[in-house]
This record gives sequence, C-alpha cells and structure tokens, in this order.
Amino acid sequence: MRRPIIGGNWKMNKGLPFEAADMLKKLIPLVKNINNVDIVITPPYTALIPVIELTKNTNIMIGAQNMYFEEKGAFTGEISPIFLKELGCSYVILGHSERRNILKETDEIVNKKLKKALNFNLNPIVCIGEHLNERETNKTKEFIEKQFRLSFKDLSDEELRKTVIAYEPIWAIGTGRTATPEQAEEIHIFIRELITKVYNSKTAKAVRIQYGGSIKPSNAKDIFKKENIDGGLVGGASLQAESFSAIIEAANNSSF
Ligand code: PEP
Repeated sequence: MRRPIIGGNWKMNKGLPFEAADMLKKLIPLVKNINNVDIVITPPYTALIPVIELTKNTNIMIGAQNMYFEEKGAFTGEISPIFLKELGCSYVILGHSERRNILKETDEIVNKKLKKALNFNLNPIVCIGEHLNERETNKTKEFIEKQFRLSFKDLSDEELRKTVIAYEPIWAIGTGRTATPEQAEEIHIFIRELITKVYNSKTAKAVRIQYGGSIKPSNAKDIFKKENIDGGLVGGASLQAESFSAIIEAANNSSF
C-alpha cells in the first residue's frame, strides 16, 4: 500500500517570514489529525528557516523548490543540497515545468540534481509532464517516456523507490484546466508500465506517483480515488490554509 503524499508548492509566494508564519499558524491546527498522508510544504528559500522552526513536532515536512547539483563553490545564486539538509529540509522538488520551460532546465540537469539529492538523503519529487502541443498531437506517451528515461537515467532500483514522481501536464498547471481523473490515471498507469519495463513490477508498484495541475478542493476527491494516483502536488490552492487542508483531507480519506 503506497502512502499518499500531498505537496504544497508555494512557488514565488509567501517568501517573507511573517507571511509564511501566518499561513502555517492557520494550517497546522487544521491538519493535526491527519495520519495517513505525507504532507510536504515547499516555501521559497527565504522562508525556510522560520517554516522549519514552526513545523518542528508537527506532521508537516518541509522541502525546497529546487537545488543545484554541486555541493559548494563558485556558483552564484545557487543553493547547495548541503544547505538544505543542514537546515532540516527532507524533500526537494526537481524539474518543475516552470524551471524546465522558463529557466531552460534540461532532463540532463534534472538527472544530475536527482542523483545529488539522493546522495544527500533529500527525498526528491521529480516533475514530468507534456505540453499542450504533445497532448493535442497524441504524443503524450512518447514525450513522457523520453523525459522519464533521461531524467531518471542510471538510477538504481532502490533510488527510484525513494523518489516521488509528479505527473504534471503543463497545460493544466496554474490554468484552472485540470486533467480529468481518467486522463491522469491513464498516464500514471503508463508510467508504472515504463518502470516495469526499465526496472521491475515490484518497483513499479512501490513508487509513489502524484498528480499535479489545478487541484482544488472540488476535484481532489475524484482524482485521489484513482488507484494509481498517490496524492498530488498543489500550487495555487496550497496558498490558503482552508483549501490546502481540504485537499489533504481528501487524500487522507482516499487512503482507506
Ligand atoms: C504546480 O505548480 O506544481 C501546480 C500543480 O500548480 P497549480 O496547482 O496551481 O496548477
């Protein structure tokens, strides 16, 4: 049985310590009785220290939205996995589509970051997903297979099991347009088939695959009901304690 995981990706929002703290003070009591879901929040780097402090001894884990693949040195503006680990992060998002598209991160870069995160015992959440163009030209599976093979290249069986895959169709991110539960489930099944091909069926059954793309309290229940969907990565709706906790609740209920 895979444990659902809900990530709240704050992106470039709530980066000031007081606004991050305001949000957490509302969220912590709302989710304190959630026992069957891993809850992860990824604030901007500038809010990591207060957020880690405030969530100590709670059921909320903290991650970063990105990191660099080197440990230290002349890499102006980059963040080392050592910093994240030492501060108390347990997760890191890698290869988010905004980083791939706006900041031109390639599958090769994502692969280097992934290996480095695993070396430092940071649990990676690696995003993959097609653009609208691939979806409309029936090339979604071809595109996902290429991204999977390159981004996860040379990972051992054990390393892949520690990695969370976030299937995030780009056309559904921040657009209000959600993949239907059936569309999402089809790709989650396809990713498990790929893992079976490249690794084995035991690993395919063990790896957690989240869906991401305009999840809201109103659609979360139907998405999480699908057998191959192990929770979600949430952007916009993770910025309000009420909507984020309702999504977490839906994942908690789907785990029974
Ligand atoms: C995301 O940023 O990963 C995401 C899924 O955003 P949204 O929920 O706003 O579509």
